[in-house]
This record gives sequence, structure tokens and C-alpha cells, in this order.
Amino acid sequence: MDEDNPAHETMLRAFLADHDEPCPTCGYSLMGLTEAVCPECGKALRLRVVEEEPSLGLYLTGLIGLSIGLGFNGLILMFIVGSILWYRLRDGISVSFGVVTLLPLAIGAAVCGSAIVLWLKCRKRVRSASIWNRRLLAAVCWLVALSTSIASIVVESLSY
Ligand SMILES: [Zn+2]
Repeated sequence: MDEDNPAHETMLRAFLADHDEPCPTCGYSLMGLTEAVCPECGKALRLRVVEEEPSLGLYLTGLIGLSIGLGFNGLILMFIVGSILWYRLRDGISVSFGVVTLLPLAIGAAVCGSAIVLWLKCRKRVRSASIWNRRLLAAVCWLVALSTSIASIVVESLSY
């Protein structure tokens, strides 16, 4: 099929005359486009049919970020609680750990865990959001995971 067929460009212009679609590359609004090129980033554009569900990429990026946050905080928490119990059972030594030591890990794991539940519940809304909102949401997921993990590391290192 001839991609340079002027009929394709006419159909693209007709579609964008009353549809506010973002550029798939840079997110710039293409409404009222006059030629088959994004005025912002210069990418050539064409009208085509795509599947109804948008791609999973950014949704999974957010999910991976939150899972790393949960894994990091959760595993260290289990390790510390496990060793406290281990010493107590084996040697009868009561290792004293301040609540302050465990609190950031518990909070971090709880925050990332609840965010994962929310992320899974809202997957339809997240995946149908605009490209910039999906990028923002995925970045927020990583920010939550990293900030809770870093807060835990800081508190852990201060308490020894
Ligand atoms: Zn563009």
C-alpha cells in the first residue's frame, strides 16, 4: 500500500480536525494539524488502526518500581525481625532493637504494598491515561519506592 498516498494525509487531517490526539512521540497536541508531521518534534505521522488497550510498558514500569520498594523494605524488615527471634530462641538473648529502627521499614513496606494494590485496582484507568500522565504516574511509583528505601537506609545507618 502506498504510504505517501495524498488520501492518507487528507484522512489524517480530517481526523485531527475534531480529535485532540497527542503526538505518540512527544505528547504535543495534534488537533488541527495541517500536514502529516508533528510541529513540535518533527516526526512523520500517519493514521492507522491500533488495538483498544494501550501498551503495557509504563504500567509495568510503575509496577516494577513499587515491587522493588516493597521487596527492599520487606526483605530487610523480615531479616531483622528474623534475627531478633533467632537470637532470642537460640541463645535466650533479648536483642534490643528500637522501634525507630523497624518503623521506616514497616512504613516503607506498607506504603509500597498499598500502592501496588491501588496500582493493580486502577490498571484500566492508568493504562487509558494520556502518555504524559502515565509517565508521571510511573515516575511517582519509582519516587515512592526510592524515597521509602532511602529513608530506611538512612534510619538504619544512623541507629548503629
Ligand atoms: Zn511530536
